[in-house]
Amino acid sequence: MQATIAILPGDGIGAEVTREAVKVLRAVETKFGHRFDLPEALIGGAGLDAENDPFPQQTAAICADAAAVLLGAVGGPKWDNVPTESRPEKGLLRLRAALNVFANLRPVAPHPILSGASPIRAELLKGVDIMVVRELTGGIYFGEKSRTQDSATDVCTYTRGEIERVLHIAAKLAAGRRNKVTSVDKSNVLETSRLWREVTTELMQRDYPGMELEHLLVDAAAMHLLSRPADFDVLVTENMFGDILTDEASMLAGSMGMLPSASLNDGSVGLYEPIHGSAPDIAGRNIANPCGTVLSAAMLLRLSLGLDEEAAAIEDAVNRVLSDGLRTGDIARAGESAIGTAEFGSAIAAAVAA
Ligand code: NAD
Repeated sequence: MQATIAILPGDGIGAEVTREAVKVLRAVETKFGHRFDLPEALIGGAGLDAENDPFPQQTAAICADAAAVLLGAVGGPKWDNVPTESRPEKGLLRLRAALNVFANLRPVAPHPILSGASPIRAELLKGVDIMVVRELTGGIYFGEKSRTQDSATDVCTYTRGEIERVLHIAAKLAAGRRNKVTSVDKSNVLETSRLWREVTTELMQRDYPGMELEHLLVDAAAMHLLSRPADFDVLVTENMFGDILTDEASMLAGSMGMLPSASLNDGSVGLYEPIHGSAPDIAGRNIANPCGTVLSAAMLLRLSLGLDEEAAAIEDAVNRVLSDGLRTGDIARAGESAIGTAEFGSAIAAAVAA
């Protein structure tokens, strides 16, 4: 297969972790006889510095021509004081809008060997395999905003259509897993959540009658994620709740650096990125964990290019490298030695090639 994948390293550790994912994609290319064109483009602070734009036109053009986009991370203290409209994060929001990716998938399936790296007790982590589906382009992050000296508003809006399209993605994923959907809202207080619950109940009864449906309030869900994480299959929720719950869920896997994500639209073009940010505290030191980005590349191969075997080869390679005892600093326990980002990425690439 020949495919173009746009590579957007972004800022901070973004460049370090995408470099490793590219190494792994090159290993897949050689092993399976594909040809990947991997044009690089600027986004976030890197775009601001070079082009005075966090989502430069050339980047938009490269992404528009690509089968999928792999991104590192954006942002950092250097750009903390630039005006809201040109902040690095705005570049990411514009990219998501350009690709119209409305569903963000975040799998949380902790590797058993890393259970000691999680603050949650090992026996609670047994069998945990959650797919969080977060609505990505609606809700309070995108609503009207206002600000005076002494008051501020952020409007939260959802439409039936926005809720239905993300629910279909969640239910279809559940159909290929354990056939259970947990929908998270705050319907005891919020009108948008009451609509969310009503639409969810109707749609699931109508289109997925045999599927188990559970409703949870977001405050209870935050607790259940830690007290009974193995009970969840697909968890679907609105934008802000998903943002918060996925960071919480990442701790089941031991480190933010382990988790990948995919952002999808109605078609096959997707945006793939680790769930972490640009980690300025560790940037440039070759100590970031590249697994989240490498596993995002695996999701890309599976979901945008239909390359299941190749995706599984990457996931197996990550598992093997972890089973062999290799660790980056964030997942090394006391007494375990850690290797660098580049060395870890090379080990994964070598395991793919083997
Ligand atoms: P962060 O995710 O960058 O870092 C949180 C903590 O996790 C830090 O201690 C960091 O060192 C650690 N960490 C993150 N990724 C890691 C990895 N791969 N390996 C090892 N340790 C890792 O969140 P933050 O510090 O709140 O934000 C830093 C910047 O990133 C901010 O400018 C923020 O706006 C931006 N951000 C960007 C995205 C994105 O690009 N999608 C997401 C979140 C935050």
